[in-house]
Amino acid sequence: MILPIRCISCGELIADKWEKFKDELALGKDPKKILDNLKVKKYCCRCMIITNVDLIDDIAIFKKKLLPRNETQSSAPVV
Ligand SMILES: [Zn+2]
Repeated sequence: MILPIRCISCGELIADKWEKFKDELALGKDPKKILDNLKVKKYCCRCMIITNVDLIDDIAIFKKKLLPRNETQSSAPVV
């Protein structure tokens, strides 16, 4: 889904490293070396970045389908 801004276990900032990690991973680099270069040392943070699945584009499709219903709700008179 969307990577949390901070690590759930230790609170370290990790969201700023996601784009670089994803780009370098797409180039075929070793995830261990990418995380080492990004200076992600703790196992909890490394685990969160490695196991993250980027599903935002898949989920966004469903949000678009919900828009007409939301529009009818917003056109209802406010009491
Ligand atoms: Zn952590």
